[in-house]
Order: sequence, then C-alpha cells, then structure tokens
Amino acid sequence: MKIIVASGNAHKIKEIEEILIDHEIISYKQDFKDHKEPVEDGDTLEENAYIKANDIKKLYPNYAVIADDSGLFVDALNGAPGVHSARYAGDEHDDDKNNELLIKNLAGKPREASFISSICFIDKEPLYFRGEIRGKILEIPRGSGGFGYDPYFLPDGCVKTFAEMNSEEKNKISHRKRALEKLKNFLEK
Ligand code: IMP
Repeated sequence: MKIIVASGNAHKIKEIEEILIDHEIISYKQDFKDHKEPVEDGDTLEENAYIKANDIKKLYPNYAVIADDSGLFVDALNGAPGVHSARYAGDEHDDDKNNELLIKNLAGKPREASFISSICFIDKEPLYFRGEIRGKILEIPRGSGGFGYDPYFLPDGCVKTFAEMNSEEKNKISHRKRALEKLKNFLEK
C-alpha cells in the first residue's frame, strides 16, 4: 500500500519506513513543499492527529494518509504538558524553556509520567492507534541525543534516559513505535 505521511520530519519518515517495511512510505513534502501546515488546535492528541491527516488527505484523496501527534503526560500535573507539549513554555518556547518550566512545576511532586503517541490513519474512515511508554522525570538531565523532554525521561525498567539512548535503542521502545506496531498489525490483517 502507498501511504502518505503528513509530516516533513525526516526522522519520523525513517522511523515509519523501518516499521511499515511492506509499504511505500512517502512524505507529502515531496510534492507539496510550500504547503502551509494546519493549526493544531485540538484538545486531544487524536484531534490534532486527525487535523494533520485530514489536511493531507485532501491533497491525496486516492491514497492512505497517516499523521501522528505526541506528548508528555505527567501524572502529578494532571496530564500537562500533554497536548501542549511542544509549546509548554508559551510563545517563546524551545526545548530548554519547556524543560525548565516542567522541572519548576514538578518541584516536590511525584515524577511518574507517560509519553503518548496517537496515529491517525485515513484510508476511508479515520482510524486511531495509540502507543504509550511509562517512566519518570529526573531532577537532573542526562544525555545529549533525541529531542524535547528526552534528557529528563527515564523509561521504566531502563538505566538510560531517552537522550542517552541511540535512535535505534529509543525507537525499539518509544510511544511512536508502539502506536506504529498497532497500525502495522492492523494493516497485516
Ligand atoms: P510531536 O507531535 O511528535 O511533534 O511532539 C510534540 C511535542 O511533544 C514535541 O515538541 C516534544 O516536546 C514532545 N515529544 C513528543 N515525542 C517526544 C519524544 O519522543 N521525546 C521527547 N519529547 C517528545
């Protein structure tokens, strides 16, 4: 099956290609370089994944499209930063500012958290596949790989943070991988 990915992120495309090896994976950016990305103003990961997938489905009505949306959900912060993970620190957000605010807000609180990824797959009707990994937010960051909250996230049962893992190690257990595996199983049926 030819599947269009509603992302121009080369790392995501590679990760998807490696898992959905029986399918032809194409970034919409290949054909629509100047396409303006839609506003992700949903209240849930699923709503935002749908907004992105549906936006690209309109460009390729005859092909299946996938989009994902992910975030860090901290138990003691009632699920924040959650769907707002990318812009947690506000207008001037970047990874350092987001992490700084997270650690400030978590002072003295329990550190359990999940990374969650939701994939929206649209061939005819939209379908959703969710992956989750539990872990803890460290006080002191470790590692220089990955992105976002990776240096602070220690997955349960692991000795390395996401940022101390190489991409192969992280991609074996990540929330995105778990969601993609569910999509893969669905496509194999
Ligand atoms: P996206 O939907 O995959 O672009 O992720 C939205 C935001 O969630 C990112 O900008 C990061 O702040 C955070 N995030 C999602 N996945 C990860 C991850 O694997 N590691 C670290 N941060 C992540």
